[in-house]
Amino acid sequence: MAISPEQKMDLLVSLCKRRGFVYPDSEIYGGFANAFDYGPYGVELKNNIRDEWWNRFVKLRDDVVGLDAPIIQNPKMWDASGHTQNFSDPLVDCKKCKSRFRADHLLEAKQAEPGYDKEKPVEMKDIRCPKCNGELTDVRQFNMMFKTAVGVTDDASSVAYLRPETAGGMFVAWKNIRDSVRKRLPFGVAQVGKAFRNEITPGNFIFRTREFEQMEIEVFCQPHLAPEVFEQWLAEMKSWVFDVLKLSPKNVVFHEISAEERAFYSQRTVDIEYAYPFGVKELYGIANRTDYDLSRHAEFSKEDLRWLDPETNEKVLPYVVEPTWGLTRSVLAVLCEHLDIDEADTADGADKEPRMVLRLPPRLAPVKAAVFPLQKKDEMASLAKELVAALRAKGIVTEYDESASIGKRYRRQDEIGTPWCFTVDFDSVNDKTVTVRDRDAMTQERLAIADVPAWVAERL
Ligand code: ATP
Repeated sequence: MAISPEQKMDLLVSLCKRRGFVYPDSEIYGGFANAFDYGPYGVELKNNIRDEWWNRFVKLRDDVVGLDAPIIQNPKMWDASGHTQNFSDPLVDCKKCKSRFRADHLLEAKQAEPGYDKEKPVEMKDIRCPKCNGELTDVRQFNMMFKTAVGVTDDASSVAYLRPETAGGMFVAWKNIRDSVRKRLPFGVAQVGKAFRNEITPGNFIFRTREFEQMEIEVFCQPHLAPEVFEQWLAEMKSWVFDVLKLSPKNVVFHEISAEERAFYSQRTVDIEYAYPFGVKELYGIANRTDYDLSRHAEFSKEDLRWLDPETNEKVLPYVVEPTWGLTRSVLAVLCEHLDIDEADTADGADKEPRMVLRLPPRLAPVKAAVFPLQKKDEMASLAKELVAALRAKGIVTEYDESASIGKRYRRQDEIGTPWCFTVDFDSVNDKTVTVRDRDAMTQERLAIADVPAWVAERL
């Protein structure tokens, strides 16, 4: 069945709603633009990605420690980081249809058009509204930080911001971490949490939202080691996308950002992009931020943020390599990558309809095993319930389903990405075995019920 990228995205969005991965938020009040709920399976998928990340990069390493800083912090830090001054996107409006665009996105789209002449770069004044061809306003800078007021008075002294990224928390906690954990450089500080940006053009489902989650590490290192640390973390990110998320190499682009395009303080930046159905767009990034952040915070806080090198007895201001992962964008990439669509006969056999299988890596799947008694009553149901209890006792997330035909039950589990389904049938009652059906190979195998929990655990 030939499916266009638009159709794939529509099918994904409807599957996410129907099966409880992602819903439009506040829907009973007409929704709230670009806000989403992660439903019962969505929150499990998101948490599984987050937990894999935290285990891999924090718990199982000697050279990374964790942090959980508040979302609203001392607003002075955003002056130091440059966010209050510069964290803005260029905005243009269409004078005719009033649509709003990011000027940099319009320029990129123009440059991607066939026949674009690099020698004669496009200028904003040459661009018209992509919706109605109307004239656009001049570019204005729009600060994307959400402002709020802390305390009972609502004046300038109470202004604070919702953090636009988690990274800031690591820089302002650096001094305490340096003094309390006594790690040798290079070492990293990791944080997972919500970030907020008043995006001009949110959209593409959960790709760009105003509230999202990030997983970030600031790796503090001796300045001369930063290029090497960068390579090591770039390799870690590659391994993450291919070995953990199992994204296909043909869908991932490692985009070396040129000196003209990257932030002025960055000595090297690589964007890790993914081929979403709506185009190749940023998934993650990694940057060598030099000592920009620590030098600014040292200047604004008047604290000495240098590190005493025990070998040379010299104080150095560390450089920082920052690998950053969008958690909610990871969920989208994983869903896009592993949603497999083919066709099946409709119930009456008269037509064809899309059949969807989420071929999620088993460790990320929200449900690992499903158990179906062939019949609801008597021993089959009680055997099935015992198996569910035995799987759960091993910490394996398992569903019990006794409703509808076995075919329908398989379809439901295929759509939520459950790797293994176990059916308890007439024979099971006598010989205490079950049939396991593999989601991807579609093979069926007979196993002793007593062996099932270990069989699943081994495959996770
Ligand atoms: P973009 O160019 O897409 O706006 P960015 O370069 O501004 O992204 P960073 O500031 O580098 O993004 O943020 C780090 C990561 O956080 C991104 O790689 C992405 O995964 C995620 N991210 C950033 N903005 C959003 C958003 N509005 N919604 C969801 N995820 C986001």
